[in-house]
Order: sequence, then C-alpha cells, then structure tokens
Amino acid sequence: MKTTGKGLREIGEFGLIAKIRNWMDASRADVVQGIGDDVAVVKMGEKALLITTDILIEDIHFERSWTDPYRLGEKALAVNLSDIAAMGGIPKHFLISLGLPKTLPFSFVSLFYRGLKKMANRFQVDLIGGDTSLSQKIIINICLIGEGKKGNLLFRNGAKVGDDLYVSGTLGDAALGLKILQDKGAKRKSKGLIDRHLSPNPRIELGQALAGKQIASAMIDVSDGLLSDTLHIIEESKVGVRIWENRIPLSSLYRRWVGTYSKDPYRIALSGGEDYELLFTASPKWKAVILSLARSLNVPITRVGEILPEKEGFHLIGKKGKKIPQRRLGFDHFK
Ligand code: ADP
Ligand code: MG
Repeated sequence: MKTTGKGLREIGEFGLIAKIRNWMDASRADVVQGIGDDVAVVKMGEKALLITTDILIEDIHFERSWTDPYRLGEKALAVNLSDIAAMGGIPKHFLISLGLPKTLPFSFVSLFYRGLKKMANRFQVDLIGGDTSLSQKIIINICLIGEGKKGNLLFRNGAKVGDDLYVSGTLGDAALGLKILQDKGAKRKSKGLIDRHLSPNPRIELGQALAGKQIASAMIDVSDGLLSDTLHIIEESKVGVRIWENRIPLSSLYRRWVGTYSKDPYRIALSGGEDYELLFTASPKWKAVILSLARSLNVPITRVGEILPEKEGFHLIGKKGKKIPQRRLGFDHFK
C-alpha cells in the first residue's frame, strides 16, 4: 500500500486522535464516553466503569541516566490515577505491559515493582495482569480500571458560559524540574521541582470531592500544560475562555529558578506538561465552597479564568492583554 502525503508532524498528536475518532466511531449503546476524555466510560447498571491507559517510553518520557526505577514505578501508576481523578472516579484495578531490553538489570525491574506497589497500596488498587515483551527501549503501558456514579462523573464537555476556571496546586514545576534534570545543573537546590517531575501526586481526593458534591461542571487533569488542557475543555464544551496570566499559581521554587530557563516567567507554567493538577470549571455560586474545600483538603485552588461564549475563542490576558493563536498552546508529541 502506498503511504504518501502529510506526515504526523503536520497533523499533530491531537489532529491524529481526531482522525482516529472519526474512523472508529463507537456504536455500542453502553459506551457513555469513548475517545475524547481523560477516561473511557462504559455503563454498568447504575454504575459506570472507567478505563484509562497511558504509556511511558524511555528517552521520550524519561532517561535511564536520571531515572530512579522505584520512582518510575510510582509515576507509571500515578499518571493513570490522575486521569481517574479528573473524572472524579474511584480507581480499582490495573494491568501493566512492559517492553524491556535484555541488558536491563533485574534490580531495575524489582525496584520498579516496589515503587508500583507503593503507589498501588496508597490508592488501594490491585495489579491483575499485563504482558511482557523484549524491546530495545523500556516501554511501560498501564491500563487502569475504576468506577464512578454515572450522574457524578465530570467530563471535559460540561463547561458553561459564566463558569469560573480553577486549577489546583501550582503550575510549571514539573516542566521546569525536567529542564533542570536535562541540564544536569543546580540539581540539589531545586530538588522540589525535580520531585514534581519524578513523583507526580494524583489528586484523587479532590477529584472525588468535586464530583461527589456536583461542584464542578467540567474537569481535566493538566498533563499537556494549562493552555493545551484548557483548549481541550473549551473545544469539547463549545465555549470560549479568558485566562489571566498573573493569576497562574507559581511555587516559590518555580519563581526562583524560572529566570535561568526562560525570559518569560509564565511560559513554562502555561505550556509545560506533567503537573497532573486538576483544571475544572464551576458556577460562580460555588466560590465559597471551593475555597473551603481547598482548606479542608489542604490543596491550593486558584481561579485563573472564566468561561466565555464560543465565538470569543481563547484569550490569554498578559501584560498586553493579547489574544493568543491556538496552535502554540502546549505539548504535542509530533510537533
Ligand atoms: P490524556 O492526556 O488525558 O491521557 P490524551 O490526550 O492522551 O488524554 O487522549 C485524549 C483521548 O484520545 C482519550 O480519550 C484517549 O483515550 C484517546 N486516544 C489517545 N490515543 C489514542 C489512539 N491511538 N487510539 C484511540 N484513542 C486514543
Ligand atoms: Mg488526562
């Protein structure tokens, strides 16, 4: 078969996923949510089955030279837990498939599983299977299964005009930590940022609280960067958005180190991935409840924007209050 025409670079990761969604439209009546959200949702009586999968590949997502296998095990599960958190679901079981080079020390694998077990125990999920194959680079794929109440789940498509846009925690730390790791410089003093990259903390409890109390209208986890993940919400919800740059929550370590890696203090926080915070929209009537939830769970929650009518598009209000072009919004594997 002849394969010519556009390369994946031109189509981009999300353009490709949109094509796949067209080719493979779901026809079964029990599919509540197929391609297009943080997890797939399948009807199971009163309940909903949640299914999500994520892949980590050596030299794309991590480098062996600076990777501690124990923390890699924790992270492999954490990134999947984060997608269940973004629906407000309860994680339960997972399968793991590994591609491993022959030369890999056995201790790498045993340490990896110890980290995996630590994270599994913390969130009470069980490993129930997987697959193992030879590979030139390390490949880790987890499929995590969870459960939720159908009426409570938070999709990307529920944002309404007039809603506020909130984000948990601080942004940009993981991306800045990765830059510092790759740079091999200044590692000790910036440990907190590197930790954010190596050991993400899935916001399961917050996700469940926002879903259980029906506070949020739409939610996603920030894996590709604030701008890119906001774009996913507004595209699925058919709305516009205004984000105020100077409200983006930044950690003190981020503020201290960002100048070494970027002239623009907000760029990494806006476009850097892998913070695994929760980004959600909620009606203004929930403002006080959200603030008290932040206090009781001891998680910062910041209002960073507001939802506009679709025709308004995407506004990022910086010093000059300019509207930004959507194609430069965040991480894309093929760009
Ligand atoms: P997340 O960052 O939350 O993991 P992604 O951006 O990876 O989400 O994926 C967005 C949606 O596209 C999800 O519904 C995911 O299941 C789906 N998806 C991603 N890659 C593929 C693929 N190769 N084939 C089918 N669906 C895919
Ligand atoms: Mg996600």
